[in-house]
Formats: sequence, C-alpha cells, structure tokens
Amino acid sequence: MRKVAFAVRRRSAEGRTDNAASASMSRAALGIDPRQAIQEDMIRCLICGHTFRQLTNTHLGGHGLRSAEYKRRFGYNRGRPLMCRALQRLYAERAVRTGLAAQIRVRPILVNPELRARGGVRRIAFEEWLTRREARL
Ligand SMILES: [Zn+2]
Repeated sequence: MRKVAFAVRRRSAEGRTDNAASASMSRAALGIDPRQAIQEDMIRCLICGHTFRQLTNTHLGGHGLRSAEYKRRFGYNRGRPLMCRALQRLYAERAVRTGLAAQIRVRPILVNPELRARGGVRRIAFEEWLTRREARL
C-alpha cells in the first residue's frame, strides 16, 4: 500500500519535470536566460519588469505567486536567492559571522541514508540546465 502511494507520487514528480523541461526548452528557444535578471545591485521581476534589491513574497503575491512557484516558472534553481548579488553577499557574510552558516551547511541527503536510498530523481531547473550546458562548451 505504502509502495503504491510512493510510486504515484514519483510519477507525478516526473510529469512535472517533463513539463518544466519543455517550458525550459521554449524559453531557451526565445533566448531568455533567467540569470540575466540578477545583477550586482538589482533583480528584475520577470513578470512586470520592475527592478528591486530583492523580490519579496509581498511583491510576488501581487502577481499571485509565491517565491517557489516563481522560481519554478522561470526555471531558477530551487535554492536561488531572489535578490541582487550585493544583498546575497551581505547576508552570506552575516550568516558566517553569526555562525548560522555552520547550521545551514548540513545536507540531510548526506547524513540520512533513508533519503539517499530514495535517490536519483531530482528536477533540473532551467538555470542549472543553462549552467551545465555552458560548462560543456
Ligand atoms: Zn513584478
């Protein structure tokens, strides 16, 4: 019983991967790279085109989205911070200074063998696909 539920969940996860991949391909055909929206001092909202230091859930909420959905729609990596590079650096440096970085560097997939056993199936974001492609060239 438990196995069946897991199999169904897995299949739907793969379905999303296919949809995301085809959406990614059409964006690729248009030559739109979501990484270009993130600059040193600003990030551009890919829906309305306005620029900010960071894209908050309040702003994205105005478009009817949450940040996870926004990242999925535009092909960003799941862990991509939706803020300009200067702000990313500021937060990263503060996390190191206050010891927070030591806590967030723990990767459950490496620590927990059960998670590792589920293995293998992971959605590749458009951003990661672009980065991998550039690495090959
Ligand atoms: Zn916007």
